[in-house]
Amino acid sequence: MDLYEYQAKDLFHAHGVPVLPGRVVTTSTQARAAAAELGGTVVVKAQVKTGGRGKAGGVQLAATPERAQRTAAAILGMDIRGHTVHRVLVTPACDIVAEYYLSFLLDRTHRRFLAMASVQGGMDIEEVAARTPGALAKVPVDPISGVDAAKATEIVQAAAFPAEVAPAVAEVVRKLWEVFRAEDATLVEVNPLVRDSQGSIIALDAKVTLDDSARFRHPERAELADSAGLNPLEARARARHLNYVKLDGQVGIIGNGAGLVMSTLDVVARAGRAYGGIRPANFLDIGGGADAQVMADGLDIILGDPDVHSVFVNVFGGITACDQVATGIVQALGILGDAAAKPLVVRLDGNNVTEGRRILAQAAHPLVTMVDTMDAAADKAAELAALTCAKGA
Ligand code: GDP
Ligand code: MN
Repeated sequence: MDLYEYQAKDLFHAHGVPVLPGRVVTTSTQARAAAAELGGTVVVKAQVKTGGRGKAGGVQLAATPERAQRTAAAILGMDIRGHTVHRVLVTPACDIVAEYYLSFLLDRTHRRFLAMASVQGGMDIEEVAARTPGALAKVPVDPISGVDAAKATEIVQAAAFPAEVAPAVAEVVRKLWEVFRAEDATLVEVNPLVRDSQGSIIALDAKVTLDDSARFRHPERAELADSAGLNPLEARARARHLNYVKLDGQVGIIGNGAGLVMSTLDVVARAGRAYGGIRPANFLDIGGGADAQVMADGLDIILGDPDVHSVFVNVFGGITACDQVATGIVQALGILGDAAAKPLVVRLDGNNVTEGRRILAQAAHPLVTMVDTMDAAADKAAELAALTCAKGA
């Protein structure tokens, strides 16, 4: 998960990496108040999860609260590389004397971490690396020993920081490593790290990517999740630990196993061509061993999607045999009651398929159609979706 600059700076601050104070606001009036509160010239910075905001006009100085308001009005709503600006950070302007670059990242190829540092910060670091490769120092970091004072000094020396700033930068390197390690990041990047006219070293920008696989170690982070950027159905699915991705079609899909679900999307898209371009509405893998509750949760999410006109449940019985899946579907429809109001096409195959089909046949739920093969079931689901779409349902 990528963080916004202001969120990354909060983490920096918590670990002692020097940052300037700031206020995150969503309206130009609030930006004016924030500028007045901070006093003096401020910088208004677009909060979007992409780089190059400066070049795109998303980072601007404002000398007075009135100008901060106008600047914020111009930046809010701006599109930066496909990201709409909904928030700006208002922060005191810094009197920059020098711009440097620092980062830690996960080096997957070499199975270790990598520190990068340069005295040519501020601009695109890829550009620096391409034009003057020697200007970007790369120092491998052993995951076990990490970064102590000596390692930090090694990194600073490798990038040839001027002697008068070297000790302060080394201190920032050590604390930045703490952010990287303690927060389970896969990237922390500061560009620019600046020296101001007072001689202070400050992180003016902050980019952090957190390792989603370590999410369970950081329950305090729930509020960092970008719910604004998440589709509401995806947010609900995530809350129920379902592996769900919203797509733009009309046939809801539930299957067990990512591979089966992927091929289900393909056969539905292919079958849908005969019905005026009916397409899958989502990806949802309920996994092996899914019980009735998981089936009910999955159906609930999919039936709650107004774009869905029919549902294709495609299950290949394995460790969880078809009879258990069939029982799960019947119970799930019982749990959902009237909330289940769209036609379901069920294709069951695999372990104990005869008993599974018998259970579904016996339940004889009015919404459920059983089809024995995947292609025929996809065709039926597309046909039913096309039918209700045409009725304007
Ligand atoms: P990015 O373009 O998305 O990486 O956004 P940055 O936060 O790095 O800002 C872009 C550039 O704006 C920086 O490299 C600085 O040169 C400049 N900048 C950012 N904040 C300040 C500030 O407080 N004072 C001054 N004078 N320049 C700033
Ligand atoms: Mn930057």
